Amino acid sequence: MTTMTKPKEKSKKVPLRGMMENVMEQFNSAADHIDLHPNIRKILSITNNEIIVHFPVKMDSGDVEIFTGYRVQHNNALGPYKGGLRYHPTVDIDAARALAMWMTWKTSLAGLPYGGGKGGIQLDPSKYSQSELERITRRFTFALADNIGPEHDIPAPDVNTNSQTMAWIADTYMSTRPPAERTANQHVVTGKPDGSGGLEGRDRATGYGVFLNIKFWAARTNVELKGKKFIVQGFGNVGYWASHFLEKEGAKLVAVQDAFGSIENQKGITVEDLFEYTKSNKGSIVDFPDAENADKDAFFATDCDICIPAALGNQITKENAPTIKATLIAEGANGPTNVEGEQLLLKRGVTIIPDILCNSGGVVGSYFEWLQNRNGELWQLDEVIAKLDKKMKESFDKVYEYSEREGMDLRTSAFCIAIKRIEKAYIQRGIFP
Ligand code: GLU
Repeated sequence: MTTMTKPKEKSKKVPLRGMMENVMEQFNSAADHIDLHPNIRKILSITNNEIIVHFPVKMDSGDVEIFTGYRVQHNNALGPYKGGLRYHPTVDIDAARALAMWMTWKTSLAGLPYGGGKGGIQLDPSKYSQSELERITRRFTFALADNIGPEHDIPAPDVNTNSQTMAWIADTYMSTRPPAERTANQHVVTGKPDGSGGLEGRDRATGYGVFLNIKFWAARTNVELKGKKFIVQGFGNVGYWASHFLEKEGAKLVAVQDAFGSIENQKGITVEDLFEYTKSNKGSIVDFPDAENADKDAFFATDCDICIPAALGNQITKENAPTIKATLIAEGANGPTNVEGEQLLLKRGVTIIPDILCNSGGVVGSYFEWLQNRNGELWQLDEVIAKLDKKMKESFDKVYEYSEREGMDLRTSAFCIAIKRIEKAYIQRGIFP
């Protein structure tokens, strides 16, 4: 077990706030509101287990490269650890801890029988071939060994990982089980391809959930989505699907930013055209013919009504928050708005639908997939969507109504509800021994 460490001395140059600092401030402010029992505050402030593995992989050149992988298991009071694996240069122990904590609040808020975990490998996947990525993934799975398991810790896709990554993990994990247990372990990961135990609709579940949250908010506040302008940071699985459904509702995509650059067209960018274009442009949106390339640093200042950060954490800060034109921020990413940025936005009356609510469609979809595998069933898409609609509506209503009742912002409300559910479990069960 580890505790959070505070930097011993102040450095002259103020570094970008760590993700862990943000999640802890969010947690503590909600814990204050609900007057969380100090013992439970102590327990939830630490991570249960932190697994760091170093493993060698043979590259296509024949050389061996050493990789570092992480899996942080924050809390399992409500059920097995659950959360994604990301492949990105920013993956480190601080990021994995913070992201694992957010998963604990997310699964609790969604009313799922799960705890929270997160991990990944510190690497830039664009630098590796598909067969290298396969060997890296399989060797990482082997290194994690029994630290993951279908009733213990269940990974899923996250930034730069997808259904193919999950299929490799499932296959490697199952191959290392005793013969009679192999196929019964398929639900060690969720987000698998639909031919390999995956759930129909899991790919769109996160982005669809982001869209649903925006729709529920619009209905509550009497806002007409038709004609509203929105911008999206990140045009991966979450950004694309959220845009797809918002466009169908009559809203207009006017700017997009990805890891390579930004584009803008105030007359509107057709979502499917952009999606097709990225496939022929190495995944990048840059130079899309029906838009102008735009200044990357001014992205959040783009004229629009709704802003969907759907990439990485710490994107909306005290530097760019004052320039934001949107009146609604729907967090597709985890931790995209830091605490300082959020305070400025709230003062200006901007609404933020927080990550643990807004992007929870993904983990809800994962739960359906896990149930499907566990029960030996195959669910149809319409059944999945109907169940997802219901679950997302319940969560939104709970958070919205609590925030109205208590006079607090949506994030604090979401955290209060999530923490209370875990507190109840600890109070009922006590602490061993
Ligand atoms: N990576 C997604 C998230 O951050 C999904 C996690 C899961 O399905 O376990 O919520």
